[in-house]
Amino acid sequence: MLDPANFGTPLAMLQIPAKSIQRVQEKLADPDCAVTYYAQDCRHFSDLRKAVSADDWALARRSTVDVGYICRRCNIVYPGRAACSAHQDAQCYRDGGAGNAIVKLEQLQYDCAACRSKASTIAEFKAHCAGDSHRKAAAAWARAHAAASSQPPATATHRSETTHVAANALPTTSAPANPDTRPRQPSGDDPAVDPVV
Ligand SMILES: [Zn+2]
Ligand SMILES: [Zn+2]
Repeated sequence: MLDPANFGTPLAMLQIPAKSIQRVQEKLADPDCAVTYYAQDCRHFSDLRKAVSADDWALARRSTVDVGYICRRCNIVYPGRAACSAHQDAQCYRDGGAGNAIVKLEQLQYDCAACRSKASTIAEFKAHCAGDSHRKAAAAWARAHAAASSQPPATATHRSETTHVAANALPTTSAPANPDTRPRQPSGDDPAVDPVV
């Protein structure tokens, strides 16, 4: 069957910087490496601290999106772990020994907690912070967090949910969604409030 999810792409042909490809290839040679990542601008998340204001740095979150799964022997990248594993069983590790021969590849992203938006590069994050909508959202975020400082920030519980979604699958909405994270009380009588007798 012609399922595109079953086809791999050679690592060297991924649309990522040559320097990143080189770094990933070095990681593939490390038998203890099971997950590696790259940034579109070949920078590190900590580099963002010096690039933006302290207020904007406070809103910055590190996240990653899954890029694929690399066969350590032939350096072909598959979108899913199962496809990579099937390839190894059929070709590269037909005689077994695949063990830890898959390396997961992730792309680093710079998230804005106030806007729930993602940037692929530090320059992109900086440009985002200069926008009017970000300034308004950042001010509202600061007010909300000052008012609710005794409660854990709502963004903390949502951060991990966005971690494993492909970047191109995300809608580019900048509306700060505010889902109700608290358990809903049933309407009507609540037996929990009856006094104990
Ligand atoms: Zn292979
Ligand atoms: Zn923002």
